Amino acid sequence: MQDLLILGGGIVGAGVARDAAMRGLRVTLLERRTVGWGTSSRSSRLIHGGIRYLEMGDIALVHEALAERATLLKIAPRLVHPIPFLFVLERGAWWQWFRIGIGVMLYRLLAHRHALGPHHPLSRAALLRHEPLLANAPLLGGAIYQDARCDDIGLVWSTITNAQRHGARIIEECDADVRVDGEEIVATLPSGQVIRARSLVIAAGPWTDAVRTKVGLRDRRLVGGTKGVHITFPLSRVPLTNALALRHPDDNRVMFCIPEPEHDRVVVGTTDTESTESPDALTVEADDVAYLLRAVQHLFPTLGLSLADIRDRWAGLRPLLRQEGSASGRSREHKILREGRTLTIAGGKLTTYRAMAEEAVDLLGEVLGQELPPCRTAEELL
Ligand SMILES: Cc1cc2nc3c(=O)[nH]c(=O)nc-3n(C[C@H](O)[C@H](O)[C@H](O)COP(=O)(O)OP(=O)(O)OC[C@H]3O[C@@H](n4cnc5c(N)ncnc54)[C@H](O)[C@@H]3O)c2cc1C
Repeated sequence: MQDLLILGGGIVGAGVARDAAMRGLRVTLLERRTVGWGTSSRSSRLIHGGIRYLEMGDIALVHEALAERATLLKIAPRLVHPIPFLFVLERGAWWQWFRIGIGVMLYRLLAHRHALGPHHPLSRAALLRHEPLLANAPLLGGAIYQDARCDDIGLVWSTITNAQRHGARIIEECDADVRVDGEEIVATLPSGQVIRARSLVIAAGPWTDAVRTKVGLRDRRLVGGTKGVHITFPLSRVPLTNALALRHPDDNRVMFCIPEPEHDRVVVGTTDTESTESPDALTVEADDVAYLLRAVQHLFPTLGLSLADIRDRWAGLRPLLRQEGSASGRSREHKILREGRTLTIAGGKLTTYRAMAEEAVDLLGEVLGQELPPCRTAEELL
């Protein structure tokens, strides 16, 4: 008998497996495809408080995420690295320049003792000294602030490997039939093997609602995905030396251009649009690519960039908490729903996965009626 069965091997399921195994629970994680195949390998790879969430007034989320940024920099130094960002502002209202200056300073204040480096406004001339490639952009000025980036799929694999080292069993390519049978969770694997467990965690990202229905839980529309598309250019076509945050000229949304010299490319993203596509068959639509390309053409008018310069493109579905309002205005907060011996984890971000897992395993102690040792995932290296 297992203490815990986890459905979903993205970063959240991996985090729960690691935390629970470290606290001595017998854990089996089932992943329908391969670990990290879902959203967790299609992110912008930012380990960040989210400077744009400040605009949405999500101060508590930014504060928590900045604390998690510090924790991940500490426990995963091979995978998570600090990175300075230049926030680029177009010619326009001067108050915007003051606003972004105040924004980055607030960001630094919220990071408190974990702040990583300079956060202040930059004049146009100062911005160009940092990034000469912006010379022909219609610039007002900008600001410098600090964040971190990671290898997202590497973070999933390391977390899974660490969970295995603590005794967790991971089964991939496994679409099991899972039933809640009174006090027991019963999973029948395609091989016919039966696994019984005392508790269940559903950590299925954008598949959450479908998995809940499959398991026989009450139909609830918890997750409302928005699609995010990224495109890349060879570094030789966009020889950018700094990561940029910018506002899209069409709709003022914040987006990023991030050089990745290790992959000889610049990543541009992302979109944030309502989607009804299945997470199993996401498409990169021509409109999304054109939208991202327009922003880069606007920023670097003399580079003559066209569709032919795009090297890769991919799409992911954000497993956001379902709520009313515009797609990009949706909160990145998470929710853990407890129903008997089952926990469903919905929402959240790559950045906050460890804290989400800690909260879920703390709750599992109550579900199992067992006093668990304290969480150690913020101390032990990945
Ligand atoms: C475009 C984009 C950019 C993003 N950028 C960032 C960023 O820069 N920083 C950040 O912090 N966050 C970012 N996010 C959010 C972050 O990527 C997600 O919040 C996170 O990866 C979700 O992880 P997860 O484990 O919940 O879901 P997933 O990674 O999707 O994992 C769910 C897993 O469940 C599996 N599954 C489905 N059904 C079953 C079943 N029946 N049985 C077993 N397994 C099943 C799937 O195969 C999948 O592997 C971004 C998201 C997107 C889409």
